Amino acid sequence: MGFAGLSKGFLLTKQERKDKEFENRIQQGRQEEEAKERERKDQIEAQDPTRCFKCRRKIGLTAIRCHCQYYFCGRHRYAEQHECSFDYRRQGKQQLEAKLEQVTSDKLPLV
Ligand SMILES: [Zn+2]
Ligand SMILES: [Zn+2]
Repeated sequence: MGFAGLSKGFLLTKQERKDKEFENRIQQGRQEEEAKERERKDQIEAQDPTRCFKCRRKIGLTAIRCHCQYYFCGRHRYAEQHECSFDYRRQGKQQLEAKLEQVTSDKLPLV
């Protein structure tokens, strides 16, 4: 009985097993990232948009929403004033990658 599943595992080559390990690790990283993202979204939804997320001062009409989705007063609106969690570097990289992709696909020969 239980050998059926086992022998299937033995059939995998070393490389295949490495690939699987790599895949699993990527999957795990992605799940962790998603969990973090969900937690952040909950926090964002729970915040009071009439108060600065940093100093809790009432901001009302002067509320400024940062890239990280939180609302801030005029003093804390800048990323460096509120330990902004928005990944500006990653966004820049993603934009660059998207651009590169466009360039390479433009260069693909027509078949
Ligand atoms: Zn503030
Ligand atoms: Zn921010």
